[in-house]
Amino acid sequence: MFSAVCKLANALLKLGVKKGDRVGIYLPMIPEVIISMLACARIGAIHSVVFSAFSPAALKVRLEDTEAKVLITADGYFRRGQVINLKSNADEGIKETKVEKVIVVKRTANPVNWQENRDFWYEDLVKDEKDFCEPVFIDSEDELFVLYTSGSTGKPKGVVHTCGGYAVQSKFTGKWIFDWKDTDIFWSTSDMGWITGHTYSCYAPLLNGITFLIFEGAPDFPTPERWAQIIEKHKITIFYTAPTAIRMFEKYGTEILKKYNFETLRLLGSVGEPIDEAAWLWYFKNVGKERCPIVDTWWQTETGGILITSLPGMGPFKPSFTGIPFPGIKFDILDDKGKSCAAKKEGNLVLLPPFSPGLLRGIYKNPEKYLETYWSQYGKDTYFTSDAAIKDENGLIRIVGRVDDVIKVAGHRITTGELENAINSHPEISESAVVGIPDEIRGEVPLAFVSYKGDRNPEELKKEIIDQIKKEIGPVALPKEVYLVEDLPKTRSGKIMRRILKRLFTGEELGDLSTLSNPESVEKIKNIIKK
Ligand code: AMP
Repeated sequence: MFSAVCKLANALLKLGVKKGDRVGIYLPMIPEVIISMLACARIGAIHSVVFSAFSPAALKVRLEDTEAKVLITADGYFRRGQVINLKSNADEGIKETKVEKVIVVKRTANPVNWQENRDFWYEDLVKDEKDFCEPVFIDSEDELFVLYTSGSTGKPKGVVHTCGGYAVQSKFTGKWIFDWKDTDIFWSTSDMGWITGHTYSCYAPLLNGITFLIFEGAPDFPTPERWAQIIEKHKITIFYTAPTAIRMFEKYGTEILKKYNFETLRLLGSVGEPIDEAAWLWYFKNVGKERCPIVDTWWQTETGGILITSLPGMGPFKPSFTGIPFPGIKFDILDDKGKSCAAKKEGNLVLLPPFSPGLLRGIYKNPEKYLETYWSQYGKDTYFTSDAAIKDENGLIRIVGRVDDVIKVAGHRITTGELENAINSHPEISESAVVGIPDEIRGEVPLAFVSYKGDRNPEELKKEIIDQIKKEIGPVALPKEVYLVEDLPKTRSGKIMRRILKRLFTGEELGDLSTLSNPESVEKIKNIIKK
């Protein structure tokens, strides 16, 4: 790993990458994704990893924001038995950006388009490089990476993490929460495109010198047992995954797990969304065989590392409660007026001074948004998480869910605004509303309500809408259903009442409809849903 990182770092220097330059990384879960991140870190370049399943349009928005001059990608990758041509997505995504050089890892050997002097095979670039590269000295507050995530608006925001604090937080949270020993083999199932990949499939295990596994495929392909086979074959001792995966494993049936005793496992983890009591107990019983503690870890792209959890050997373990603040971290739950909530009363989860070393340092090129999103609700000494939470009588924290427009679909963070923008970019559509509703497996799923009065074949138009979302964002964010409606419910001032649309599915009271400018729209939408 060290020599591979040095070779690529030398190659990047030769391509003209300097300290502070941004480098885009658009790779599947192969070792080169980690080598690329670390090669950037070694020369003080700022990496920005883009999830390989994101569309060319989504890649482009991110590259435009960072103004990266170099992109590291692959010819393709394997997904559920198919070869995905990543290079062609990259070619499309770099159009009209500042990317001048593209480094291409040969992974699938599928045919690719090639532009001389712009495109370089990774292997050719590193082949003759020296396996030592003098590290560039950086300040602890210099930027390490920018990772884009969904915020309150349709445009993704670049969360900025710095070298020193992020490294400290990664190292110590990994060490204490996963209780890493030299003999461990750790598997975190997250892709590198998300923060969990960055912290617990790259920086934290490597800073602790731990053996870990990365996996390129899907955990249920070609058989639903694939993940169980991997645990057994590679003697995984600590398994860290998302509730959505746990619920999917559960759906495939407890029966298939009877032949696995998972004797190497000693600790389990959960991350990304609230884990309900039933899924927690299933995980504990059928995967941990009632032997392995479960650490339910709360954190965000912005916090860089885990901040609320239980600790193995110490607890406290209580299904559906994530635990208590990590040592040194202070949280509170506040009501709208900023008063601390009593036990069992829901409020907004906030982080208080001295904060955590790995907390984001800004939103890339957008200081106003940074202040407004995190430091305006309760003043500049209180970090607003955008999560609602409840404490029990012993101070254990249960996460209720987001209070903004973010929905967590299978643990992936997207905003309703992002999806609406994608839908509205269809030439025949001007208005839509997306809401997240609870889903048994995926936690939450988006539903799209699209206002359309023309005479197109509805099925055709719905398909075009889905294609539009695939084009703008990628397959991660597809709505469970698209409803074509005449009118969306609106207030007299023209605000779309998404809350009402959501309640049509959750069974909650719709509330007073007389304040709407078009109350009749709700009845019509109800009929469409029924149909
Ligand atoms: P992301 O930035 O994609 O990691 O998403 C962060 C959000 O995921 C948080 O604000 C929470 O809403 C949710 N989340 C993360 N971990 C947990 C957890 N252990 N329990 C409940 N919700 C979680």
